[in-house]
Amino acid sequence: MKPAPFAYAKARSLDDAVAQLAAHQGEAKLLAGGQSLIATLNMRLSSPSLLVDINGIGLDGIALKNGMVEIGALMRHIALERSAEIAKHAPLIALAMPHIAHPAIRNRGTIGGSLAYADPAAELPACLVAMDGEIDITGPKGKRSVKAADFFKGLFETTLGAHDVLTAIRLPAANVETRVGLAELARRHGDYALVGLAAAAKASGKGLSDVRLVYFGVGATPVRARKAEAALAAGSVDDAVKALDLDPSDDLHASGAVKKHLAGVLLRRVAKQLAEPRA
Ligand code: FAD
Repeated sequence: MKPAPFAYAKARSLDDAVAQLAAHQGEAKLLAGGQSLIATLNMRLSSPSLLVDINGIGLDGIALKNGMVEIGALMRHIALERSAEIAKHAPLIALAMPHIAHPAIRNRGTIGGSLAYADPAAELPACLVAMDGEIDITGPKGKRSVKAADFFKGLFETTLGAHDVLTAIRLPAANVETRVGLAELARRHGDYALVGLAAAAKASGKGLSDVRLVYFGVGATPVRARKAEAALAAGSVDDAVKALDLDPSDDLHASGAVKKHLAGVLLRRVAKQLAEPRA
């Protein structure tokens, strides 16, 4: 199918993008990498009257500030995948990148677009919650920051308003104590995950503390498995699997029961990654 007719405008700046969104009162959409948006237009799941292209307005770059890694919203997946700074300071993002779609899509897709789109089976929203990250937003009333855990509200739904631009994400920079793990099961490599798990923890003596296990593909938003986190911090992977507090619904790809079983399989794999010091 072809999209419904729309106008196109190239934003000149962040302020210009916000002003154009506000002027069109919910009828305009931002265009970043276009890898999700264009498909929804072609399927006529969305028919905005205007696309506001934010490429080139400067929301890119990686910076280390006050113990946090700041990543511009327009950073493309491929740039993050190849970045030595991301590998060192945000290793969970680096682990996620090869699982996101295929190289052609990673060449264009952006981290901001992925978070704003909030696909429940996407890797990056779960990584951000696992790392206790923050999201910076600029809208008509100015700037604000939202904790990742508060940003994802429902299926493809976030706290972004119709006139807001997601400008950057911030994550605590990894240090020698940081442990991360990520695993997923998909029908083919590069497909959205049937079930996935992004995890972060701190090395503490011979064990782990501050364990955060965040599943994707099992609910409308990233889902923390808090009882399993406590059991893993107490030292038992078997207990963590038994304690898995997830209740996935059936979907087109698998039943809830299969997803729950797969979640346990992934937990065992990720627990091994968390037990290993980072290279
Ligand atoms: P766009 O498509 O440009 O925008 C998506 C939505 O976000 C639009 O509503 C847009 O208005 C809004 N938006 C974009 N940027 C901003 C911003 N800065 N502020 C506010 N709103 C904004 N993703 C995965 O995570 N895992 C996968 O396995 C995966 N597989 C894929 C397979 C295929 C075949 C395809 C086509 C895509 C797949 N994707 C996957 C999605 C891919 O990662 C996209 O790049 C991403 O979801 C959207 O990023 P984008 O920059 O292309 O955003």
